[in-house]
Amino acid sequence: MKFLKRFRTGKTLEYFLEIFFKRKLAVTVNLTFTPIAVFFGEILVGYYFGKLFQKLVEFKPGGDTGALYHIAWTIVGFYLLQIAFYRVNDYTALWRQSNNLRDLEQNIFKRLPQYSYRFFSETYGGALVSQVNRFLKAYEEFDDVTIFDYLEGLSRIVLSAIMLLFIAPPLGILLAVWAPIYIFIVVYSSMRKAHATRADAAADSSVIAYLADAITNMVTIKTFAKAKLEHKKFSAVSTDRYHKRLRSWRLNANIRNLRWFVAVVFFVAYILLSIYLVTRGSISPAVMIAGQIYIFAIFNSLLSLHQVIQRTEQLFADAAELTDILDMKPELTDPKHPEKSRIKDGLIEFNSVRFKYPKTSKDVFGSLDLKIKPGERVGLVGHSGSGKSTITRLVLRFLDVDSGAILIDGQDIRNITQDDLRSKIAYIPQEPILFHRTLMENIIYGREGVTRAEANKASHLAYADNFIQRLPEKYDTLVGERGVKLSGGEKQRVAIARAMLTRAPILILDEATSALDSKSEKYIGRALDELVKGRTTLVIAHRLSTIQKLDRIIVLKDGLIIEDGTHKELLDKNGEYAELWSHQTGGFLDE
Ligand code: ADP
Ligand code: MG
Repeated sequence: MKFLKRFRTGKTLEYFLEIFFKRKLAVTVNLTFTPIAVFFGEILVGYYFGKLFQKLVEFKPGGDTGALYHIAWTIVGFYLLQIAFYRVNDYTALWRQSNNLRDLEQNIFKRLPQYSYRFFSETYGGALVSQVNRFLKAYEEFDDVTIFDYLEGLSRIVLSAIMLLFIAPPLGILLAVWAPIYIFIVVYSSMRKAHATRADAAADSSVIAYLADAITNMVTIKTFAKAKLEHKKFSAVSTDRYHKRLRSWRLNANIRNLRWFVAVVFFVAYILLSIYLVTRGSISPAVMIAGQIYIFAIFNSLLSLHQVIQRTEQLFADAAELTDILDMKPELTDPKHPEKSRIKDGLIEFNSVRFKYPKTSKDVFGSLDLKIKPGERVGLVGHSGSGKSTITRLVLRFLDVDSGAILIDGQDIRNITQDDLRSKIAYIPQEPILFHRTLMENIIYGREGVTRAEANKASHLAYADNFIQRLPEKYDTLVGERGVKLSGGEKQRVAIARAMLTRAPILILDEATSALDSKSEKYIGRALDELVKGRTTLVIAHRLSTIQKLDRIIVLKDGLIIEDGTHKELLDKNGEYAELWSHQTGGFLDE
């Protein structure tokens, strides 16, 4: 399989073959009908054409025409057979391919949530979308070239060579020797340039990723007056693609030249050899004509062989990026034999937790101990980088501890499935992102089987109902690009309504750091009061209004808990918290 390695098909081929052979009967039809059609429509037809031409040349006016028509009708019959086989083949292929593509895209989609939080925080959404898209297109291309190009071309060459070996052995031998040499040269030279094709595809991907990122951040670019700088950076990425593309295309042109040369040598040899054989009487002119017809057909498919190989390389290069992703082992896996979740009250314990981000040198937590009682409402405060977000990621098991353990209601969170764990935690991120679906769909996302009435109630309690009722289509209004743009505060209220519907005993809230209008602020404050009822709550707190109300405040500094107590206790202590508090600005703590 060294051959395939050179082609850099990698694991892609495995994925593709698995799906290719999924519908056994249909794929068998495709793999057998193509050679059968070629046999009738090209091999037999070519042979009879040869006969017909010779008979026509030898024909004297007034002679017997019956034999001529007999041959002609035979040819028509074989053509019809070819057409019948090709038609059935076509319909089978399109049915099979469309089913395979559907399965493939659903499989990919199913796999995506298995990748880690880290993966998605480091991957460009736009690039991933285009990788998935290219992977699917690549499979379609793979399926097409396999049955419509490789199989057909191969059938043509093998069947022609066999036929010629019967009717004109020297010509058959010449073809049987030449065709593999030609194919080898084309394949080998294409392989040699596979890396150039791959580099071209990677550069292509970089351009798209840059473009997507820049477009997403266009407002930032404009406000920071960075259009010139961005243009310069983009030009660098684009110029890189230009070089790689040019190199790839130049190599193609070289291969074309070589291919022409080898083809011409053969053609001359074939003509000379046939003249020699016919003049010596070893073969009839009919055979020479049949051979000529085969050779033209083979030439036609071999002429495009180079393009087909190029498409093949391209498709594997296109698929490679997603293959690497599909090939990745999920960083965080569920236990082989998960325990039944015992999470009920929401007692959270960190026991000597040590954690550091991969590829960094410093521990975020050296040995963190923390116990949060059921129903307790705890605020995490501290300067930026002190580890607040990391604590919430660890509880959600977006990240795994390096040593020590996190227990919820006495159960190590690594012993239950991630779905079980996260279904017990309602999480509201700093800037909630909503699906481009209706508001109702976004809200009922909180729990399966929620009724509209329950959703209405939740959104009422979350103070979302009042703004939703003012929208033209109310709960059926589409969010985002095709619908309304919600303000930050409105999005948060929708996220709170969604969280309310979960029956999760634990709530994790990353408070928005951006200022909201005072009305929104008030609503959100009230909505949260409702939401935290009966839930163990962990808030990354930035707002004074939130902080004072909490049962307990934990002050983090460089991954250490330096203060722990109520707002009042901590103020009396006159330490870090009191310091933060005195530097508060505009209702927010300075981080
Ligand atoms: P906070 O939320 O308090 O601002 P974080 O928990 O985000 O703090 O960060 C704690 C530390 O971990 C910081 O030193 C930060 O640089 C580092 N850190 C955070 N996220 C990552 C990441 N994805 N990869 C590497 N280091 C990170
Ligand atoms: Mg943070």
